Amino acid sequence: MKTYNHFIDGQYVEPIAKKWLDSMDPYRGEAWAKIPQGCEQDADRAVKAATRALQEGPWATMNGSQRARLMNKLADLVEQNIDRLAELEVKDNGKLIAEMKGQVTYHPSWWRYFAGLADKIEGRVVPIDKPEHFAFTRREPVGVVAAITAWNSPLLFVAWKCAAALAAGCTVVVKPSEFASVSTLAFAELTREAGFPDGVFNVVTGLGHEIGSALVDHPDVAKITFTGSDVTGARIYSQAAKTMKRVSLELGGKSPNIVFDDCNLTAAASGAISGIFAATGQTCIAGSRLLVQNSIKEKFTERLVELGASAKKGDPMSPDTNIGPVTTKPQYQKILDYMEVAKAEGARCILGGGPATSADLPGGQFVEPTIYTDVTPQMRIAREEVFGPVLSIIGFEDEADAIRIANDTIYGLAAGIWTQNMGRAIRVSSAIKAGTVWVNTYRAISYMMPFGGMKYSGIGRESGVEAIDEFLETKSTWISYSEDVPANPFVMR
Ligand code: NAD
Repeated sequence: MKTYNHFIDGQYVEPIAKKWLDSMDPYRGEAWAKIPQGCEQDADRAVKAATRALQEGPWATMNGSQRARLMNKLADLVEQNIDRLAELEVKDNGKLIAEMKGQVTYHPSWWRYFAGLADKIEGRVVPIDKPEHFAFTRREPVGVVAAITAWNSPLLFVAWKCAAALAAGCTVVVKPSEFASVSTLAFAELTREAGFPDGVFNVVTGLGHEIGSALVDHPDVAKITFTGSDVTGARIYSQAAKTMKRVSLELGGKSPNIVFDDCNLTAAASGAISGIFAATGQTCIAGSRLLVQNSIKEKFTERLVELGASAKKGDPMSPDTNIGPVTTKPQYQKILDYMEVAKAEGARCILGGGPATSADLPGGQFVEPTIYTDVTPQMRIAREEVFGPVLSIIGFEDEADAIRIANDTIYGLAAGIWTQNMGRAIRVSSAIKAGTVWVNTYRAISYMMPFGGMKYSGIGRESGVEAIDEFLETKSTWISYSEDVPANPFVMR
């Protein structure tokens, strides 16, 4: 079993307390690697390295074009290591190899896109209203960034957060999830190979309430960019206020996927299934509330059950597996608990509804893909994020009814609309409070397109040109070119 170490100041270093955690393979249910259980001192060491790199190292004087060259080199190196990195991710989080390989293959696009932006960070000359003044703004890196990530797509989150942060000129300390840290630790080596100066990119691992919390408290961290649950996000948001940190949060969702009776039913059924069963439902954008127009609800539900029942559970490394294990034991238990809640609330189970056990499913972390119908918007199964392959079907009458139910949630991450009527698509997509709305498609993402949540789903945007703003501060500079001395020094000019 391989033992990994923190990556600080350009090298792998043992945790100060000499403590490691087991990293579990969720498919086999056994430990397969060891990762450092970092403490406050490890966090401090990493933040000091990042601060030095920001203030003194060659990074501090590099211009955007020079940073871009390193980022492009890193993208090339990731491309040469796709299989190795994707396999590490599958070992850790049990998601399908096809999905993780797709994510790692796409990962370099973020580095290249933000490399393209690194030398286009421009201020403005303001045609100022005060006489004999020259006034301009410049955009400066916010400082040391702590990037705290979730277990479902570790390297994708590194790309989303760090490509924008490094393009802006910041330095970073990444704290991946204790359930899936290995790929991020392995990726760190590539930043050294690409030639990033020591201390620009650091990775520390361990438990959220220990080393994660220490990063949030650290006075030299200027910004937290976080992906995870809304409960942790809220804790971090209030904790970060004590040191007045900037905070971006990518949190959970209970996304409505709305099927109108005028849609292409085959496409909608496939979109509904992929919206909830892909990644074993462990995705923040899961279309976990399926709103189906009452006129087609019965017919459409039958199709879904047929499609859902055809999903093959098994080894996530096998190309013909459709549903892998749940990544963590607590998450597995949480999904089963929600199945009990759904039953108690009177939702009608028409597929699955329990654990999946058979000889070819080792590890004890599989659940059946599950569909509940006759769900009402008040039920907990319709309101709370399950983060598993559990779909709630809710019927609706018309457009207004669909919009009302769709927006009846604390979340606002994503939504889907299935209709052939483009007028309806535009009306409904503009009425829904969500950061992303897909029409006749679902789960599409791109480095070019801003992504993030409204309401409890988060603060800020990742990807797209907007993302770089999250890592910049605007400075206003005023220069007087007047020869006159102010007549009255006690009055503001
Ligand atoms: P989580 O909130 O349990 O953990 C996320 C990270 O926060 C981990 O690295 C963890 O160690 C750290 N953490 C925990 N407590 C902390 C503390 N007190 N201080 C600092 N750090 C702490 O989330 P998870 O279970 O890893 O991920 C699942 C959640 O993430 C779901 O709610 C999902 O919707 C959300 N998610 C959101 C997005 C998005 O982009 N919006 C993407 C993927 C997942």
